[in-house]
Amino acid sequence: EEPEDVFPEQTELKDYTLIQKIGEGAFSKVYRGIPSTSNCSNGASSVIAQQYKEVAIKVIIKQQLPNTNKKGDEKNGKTSTAEQVLKEIAIHKIVSSGENIVSFIDFQESEKYYYIIQELLAGGEIFGEIVKYTYFSEDLSRHVIRQLANAVKYMHQLGIVHRDIKPENLLFEPIDFIPNPKPKLRSSDDPSTKLDEGVFRPGIGGGGIGVVKLADFGLSKQIYQTNTKTPCGTVGYTAPEVVKDERYSMQVDMWGVGCVLYTVLCGFPPFFDEKIDVLTEKISRGEYTFLRPWWDQISDGAKNCVRKLLEVDPAKRYTSEQLLQDPWLNSYDCLPSADH
Ligand code: ADP
Ligand code: MG
Repeated sequence: EEPEDVFPEQTELKDYTLIQKIGEGAFSKVYRGIPSTSNCSNGASSVIAQQYKEVAIKVIIKQQLPNTNKKGDEKNGKTSTAEQVLKEIAIHKIVSSGENIVSFIDFQESEKYYYIIQELLAGGEIFGEIVKYTYFSEDLSRHVIRQLANAVKYMHQLGIVHRDIKPENLLFEPIDFIPNPKPKLRSSDDPSTKLDEGVFRPGIGGGGIGVVKLADFGLSKQIYQTNTKTPCGTVGYTAPEVVKDERYSMQVDMWGVGCVLYTVLCGFPPFFDEKIDVLTEKISRGEYTFLRPWWDQISDGAKNCVRKLLEVDPAKRYTSEQLLQDPWLNSYDCLPSADH
């Protein structure tokens, strides 16, 4: 094991030992850590140590954040760093007990850092699996998307929009049992297996990915008050276009789910362009295709599910409940359900 002083973030952290860096975001570093048993100053940490052998610790460096706390920040209408982090934590606490949501464990603030202690998902990002295997079989895609839909449904029921759904924020618990060990090739001459100069990338038919959980509430927003179901901050003077926007604002997450589904099925995202303005234009028109030959072997059921999610009109787009009723999502697969 590495000595404690390897990581500068360790010196200001109590009750946990940082072991290894496992992730990095724009303004954060994420470590695998262990609750310290030797230094149990408070009762809470010994309870945590009993429950969690390992944890994930998201360290937010105060200095690195944009609009860092300067007096007068509130005046220009921007949220200060502290407010931003406290909002992320408040929302994480609200949604924490969802079965497909990464559990919140603990929070600490020191002079230089904020620490968000969470349940560790040892498999890491779904993004990494896409990079490793290029694309997933329909069975595995369904296994992942069903759990993502469940996470989104849970958040939406609590009046919260995630707003940053992507393969980097989807984490998983690895499983050893591989029910379908043979890679499921679409066909032996599938060009997508030869994308990079003869590199054989077969995709995976199953196994490896167990429970999938949604992480990162840094961009999340509370839209409705849970108990009253009324929009937050509305006092009756809200303009109609704002009211309409608020009604459909949850649906941004379902677009994200559509992008994830498209990507896991074929190995590349639905919208892409080097030029940001061209990309923006394509998205605003919902201009995507089931590009040949990569989509040729994918079922109509899967394509239909993608279409219902990548629908430009948020009122027509699948809600999380509708997605969970989708025939393709509910068709038979040979993967074990995550809870056996
Ligand atoms: P950011 O807001 O900076 O994007 P995230 O919360 O998304 O921060 O964390 C960054 C990365 O750290 C994730 O994409 C993932 O790779 C890793 N990570 C975060 N939380 C966990 C966790 N609970 N278990 C395992 N890895 C995690
Ligand atoms: Mg992230």
